[in-house]
Amino acid sequence: MSNKLTKLARKSVQELTPYQSARRIGGTGDIWLNANEAPDTGHYSLDCSRLNRYPEFQPASVINGYADYAGVKPEQVITTRGADEAIELLIRTFCEPGKDSILINPPTYGMYEISAETCGVDIIKQDLDANFDPDYDAIKLQLESVNIVFLCAPNNPTGNLLNTERLTDLLNAAQDKAIIVCDEAYIEFCPDASQVSLLQDFDNLVILRTLSKAFALASLRCGFALASETVIGLLSKVIAPYPVPEPVAQIASQALTSSGIKVMKTRVEQLNGMRNAFIDELNQLQGIEKVFPATGNYVLVQFYDSQKVFSLLGEQGIVLRDFSSKVRLENCIRITLGSATEMNTTLVALKSVLS
Ligand SMILES: *Cc1c(COP(=O)(O)O)cnc(C)c1O
Repeated sequence: MSNKLTKLARKSVQELTPYQSARRIGGTGDIWLNANEAPDTGHYSLDCSRLNRYPEFQPASVINGYADYAGVKPEQVITTRGADEAIELLIRTFCEPGKDSILINPPTYGMYEISAETCGVDIIKQDLDANFDPDYDAIKLQLESVNIVFLCAPNNPTGNLLNTERLTDLLNAAQDKAIIVCDEAYIEFCPDASQVSLLQDFDNLVILRTLSKAFALASLRCGFALASETVIGLLSKVIAPYPVPEPVAQIASQALTSSGIKVMKTRVEQLNGMRNAFIDELNQLQGIEKVFPATGNYVLVQFYDSQKVFSLLGEQGIVLRDFSSKVRLENCIRITLGSATEMNTTLVALKSVLS
């Protein structure tokens, strides 16, 4: 019976391996460094007096707050259930199932591929170059055959940033051919690397943002796409009628006040400081082949024997993210920057495993 039901599902769904999301991936422990979550949580108030009413389609306080923060016009912002929904929305808006393709640059964030698969959209893979940067020339040659190019900077998990000049050149080449998406989920940790100012010149650029990482609101499910008014108009046709629950809107608008942004910036300063100290310590350990350049709230480390590190730290309740089965990331583990205590415990554990 259940087998017959399974066969009723779309073929791509039958064959799909779902994304290994933070709470789905399992593991046990008390130090969670596997999903790039912030170590602390903020304080918010909720007004429940209007919960009987449908919420605003795009709550003005959230849209205006984010537009102010990002330095764009409110008409250039759409808010979604996390940046993940924006990824799927872009694919559903710009790609014809069974016909069109997206281009991704592995190794990178896994959801571009999974969203394309569930939408019946083909995936063209253009591997990152030897330095884990996008191969801009190779991407340019494929613009006729793809509708969306997904770039990620800071790249998850390698930490690479984009070269603005080469991106500008790519955007020019892609005019009227393809949408270029820059996923800036971690941009608060290196704000100077944002490509947001290019929105002034390119109506085919989309920038993805989220409150899940530096804003410490992963459970809120609140993300943003920033783009030209034309692109935002198209996405607004496809998105659900009430995409933003009222409690989400209330908390997001509190996070986007000037005091909320100040709290976020203090967190970023602390985590960036901790990251640099952590990397200095890592560089003194044996058993490490490479520490990738870190620009977000995570560090990708290539060990000589990642399996041993992953399982022994796991036994001590330290949950990390294993990337060793991904192309070109043999023996790589991604470590999220947690609290100072958590990072100390992790360092002590690493020292004992690697000595
Ligand atoms: C975490 C992450 C996202 C998704 O963020 P949500 O807003 O929580 O959906 C998108 N892109 C990258 C690169 C991420 O690491």
